[in-house]
Amino acid sequence: MEYLSVSAAQRCVFESVATLGVETVRLEQSLGRVLAEDIRANRDLPPYDVSAMDGYAVRSADLTGGPVELDVIEDIKAGDMPTKAVQAGQCARIMTGAPVPQGADAVVRVEDSETLSDGRVRFIKAAPSGMDIRLRGEGMRDGDVVLAAGAEITPGVAGVLATVKCAQFRVYRRPRVAILSTGNELEGIDEPVDPNKIPDANSYALMAQVQALGMEPVLLGIARDDPAELERYLRQGLEYDVLLVSGGTSVGVHDYVRPTVEALGVQMKFWRVAMKPGHPLAFGVLQRADGTASLVFGLPGNPVSSMVCFEEFVLLALRCSMGHARLHRRTVSARLAHPVKMRPGRTEFVRIVLSRDGEGYVATSTGNQSSGALLSMARADGLLVAPSDSNGLVAGETVTVQLLDGAAFQNETGYME
Ligand code: AMP
Ligand code: MG
Repeated sequence: MEYLSVSAAQRCVFESVATLGVETVRLEQSLGRVLAEDIRANRDLPPYDVSAMDGYAVRSADLTGGPVELDVIEDIKAGDMPTKAVQAGQCARIMTGAPVPQGADAVVRVEDSETLSDGRVRFIKAAPSGMDIRLRGEGMRDGDVVLAAGAEITPGVAGVLATVKCAQFRVYRRPRVAILSTGNELEGIDEPVDPNKIPDANSYALMAQVQALGMEPVLLGIARDDPAELERYLRQGLEYDVLLVSGGTSVGVHDYVRPTVEALGVQMKFWRVAMKPGHPLAFGVLQRADGTASLVFGLPGNPVSSMVCFEEFVLLALRCSMGHARLHRRTVSARLAHPVKMRPGRTEFVRIVLSRDGEGYVATSTGNQSSGALLSMARADGLLVAPSDSNGLVAGETVTVQLLDGAAFQNETGYME
């Protein structure tokens, strides 16, 4: 089989994924879930013209510039309804969010007024009609779609759902994900340290990557490089919607993952992708007679490769099956701080740290880029994506960086524009 390009392999994954049905959740339990229905406003908001400030509701015709003194006819707090209309020479004290009384067409903030000893209020400046009034329906209009299916429940979205009184709603079901590590050399996290063994990092890095997407994966443990043992574990893993297997997908004589999943009915879609790190990566689908399916990713054993393959392919599959409208990591442009050597013919993912100077983001390698150097991933803000036709990158070149989890925060200060 040919090496697939990263984009062709992503397309193949995308075309193999379907959403898994819907369920109803309460707003309190919905953070990170994805709406499976459009949500509409159930009334105009604000429901009437309201004051945007604490101050005085006035008639703009009374305040044309120059001092004017008005009688205060009423005190309107948020939650009150005005009882009187404002006539010429009058105003009403009004609080933020309170309905603007009839007759008034502007609000003057309290800072721009002066209360006189006889209780009247003096204004100096002109008040154009509409000033500091929020119009009925300005926030949302009754019946409008305010959130579309495919939107993730973020804090802002939760606020909107509460605003339209949506206490429960339909979201897409989340895929159930199983994780399996393979290799005779692997040592489980609770086993005593054996100098001849390699600690199982992948189960936990993949676990956290899945958790960061809002799912609770199941760790199946470590399977030895033994066809019968592997088959037992893989059978168990195929009961989940998505099975992530790391290690054993290469062409070594003890790499049994691919033949074993095939023997269990999984149709392999690809097992070679032109990328670094990442090779070898296998992807297949178990299609059952009842219409359900399981996706299997055979990820490389090297911890960085496994994580990068998760970022580029598994993330796409999981977000897609969760119904997300946004499937890909956000990218930013950055200037490269140093040259990067490359061989053309494969897409390279370089782990980088982002910083900022006066001109924008600067990308600097996290250091040793070996696919076993997990620290390079732990320190990274993002993955520099170097296109497969590149012979190498030069210092100062503008590059594309995919942001990783955690890159939304930084410890520099002083650039709040
Ligand atoms: P493999 O793909 O099975 O040939 O493994 C490639 C390399 O990744 C080997 O050096 C393995 O020891 C290492 N490796 C495989 N699985 C894991 C794991 N779960 N955690 C850490 N390293 C691993
Ligand atoms: Mg192995």
